[in-house]
Amino acid sequence: MDHSDHARCPNCSSNMVYDIKLGALKCESCDSVFTVNEYEEILKNKKSKNADSFSRGAKVDDSDEFFDAENLKRSYTCSSCGGQLTPGAVAATLTCPFCGNDIVFTDKYKTQRMPDFIVPFQMDREDFIKTYREELKSRLFVPDDFISGAKLEKVKAWYIPFWLYDLTVKGSASYQVEDVKKHGKNSYKHQVYEGSAGGELTFSNIPQDGSREVDDRVSQRLEPFPVDHKRKFNFAYLSGLDAKIYNVDSNECITRVKVRARESMDRFLSSAHEHKYYRVTDRKYDMKPNGISYALMPLWNMEIQWKGSTFPFTMNGQTGKCVAKFPISWKKFYACILSSLWMLSCFLAWISTLEAFVRTKDSIKGVGLLCFGYCWLMSSFFPRYLFSRNLNSSISSSLFFIIGCYFIYLTYCGKIDWAYFLISFALGLFTIIMVNVYVVYKEVKDQNKIELRTSCDNNITLKVASTVYHHELAKTKSTGNTSSIINGKEWKPEL
Ligand SMILES: [Zn+2]
Ligand SMILES: [Zn+2]
Repeated sequence: MDHSDHARCPNCSSNMVYDIKLGALKCESCDSVFTVNEYEEILKNKKSKNADSFSRGAKVDDSDEFFDAENLKRSYTCSSCGGQLTPGAVAATLTCPFCGNDIVFTDKYKTQRMPDFIVPFQMDREDFIKTYREELKSRLFVPDDFISGAKLEKVKAWYIPFWLYDLTVKGSASYQVEDVKKHGKNSYKHQVYEGSAGGELTFSNIPQDGSREVDDRVSQRLEPFPVDHKRKFNFAYLSGLDAKIYNVDSNECITRVKVRARESMDRFLSSAHEHKYYRVTDRKYDMKPNGISYALMPLWNMEIQWKGSTFPFTMNGQTGKCVAKFPISWKKFYACILSSLWMLSCFLAWISTLEAFVRTKDSIKGVGLLCFGYCWLMSSFFPRYLFSRNLNSSISSSLFFIIGCYFIYLTYCGKIDWAYFLISFALGLFTIIMVNVYVVYKEVKDQNKIELRTSCDNNITLKVASTVYHHELAKTKSTGNTSSIINGKEWKPEL
């Protein structure tokens, strides 16, 4: 009894692997290409002609004869070379380390529910590494020695088990929503509405990964998982790639899905998208599952080793969306703030020479002023070039800065209005610190933030709602900030 499959070339009997770019099985020796359907046909013919065990893979070891569904750690013997294989509990594929044959342990899937369909990879290894390089380039504060010295390890094309839920949520909710509008200088008008609505939402294919080895935060950040390119499940798709079986069942996963569906219903019934904040005060929902499919979804994953730490990098193998956590170089971060500060002080120096020029109307100083202004403009790109690692442009922009300094020297000739200069410098300093520290810091933090999703608005396929009432509450008031006065959640579209 065979417990696994090995995709063998019908022409030369060599190992065949699934080629992502071709979307078909390709022989490693003679380059023959077969689509999964063609291979399936050939296999059927061979079987009917009694060419038994054509796709022979590996057999469960004799010592492990009394296995059951729980005992997934059993070992196998490769049918081609007799080598012992221990794929582990959840791995469903392995390349035999002795003969190089790619084996799919079909029995592992057969002891569980079989996948309903598979979404094949559209992005290959090259695309994955390219996405990694692009992502690295877009992050300005990654340490330089990470870029040059990090080791990319365990690059894997994973088929991850996913549960896809179809749900209908019916019910009604009472809610409060809040609008915030600018109202004079440093004042915001908060308008609060109260309402009640009833309705129905239909969701389809809300994904939840069924693998403990994959961080739910990561798999949720990689959504959406479109199913337009789904194929009928066939073991041939797994040949040469890595696949897992599920170890979290559909009943366990549904809890998380229900929380997300409830939040989507809250957002929908309160018409949260028309307001800044929303808060549901009372709800009565009835959730009915319409079906659960089991699908294998493609994920590229690797581990980046740097200075003793591991940074995972994962990509949706269909859409190319990626999730990454990279280290932040605080040295670079502060250098960026300081260099922006430097550029700003040059700008202020220029403004103060302008003021001197208006007073004296000296045309030679005017020319010097224009030249300095131009040099300043060119040199202000310096931080940008520096942090996008464009060395030539950083050097030329810093040269412009030196020329600019010479012009400012000529313009002033020692007659600087220090009071004017210092006041504008202090003001500028304050502004730049606010902008840089807040905006840049927030961006750097957001880039590395990997969180669970709270709703599943992207999976809504049908909406029916009726509003019972919706009117403004006497709560309206003005405050000096935009934070919610009803303690509501901020509405943000789902990414
Ligand atoms: Zn061949
Ligand atoms: Zn072998």
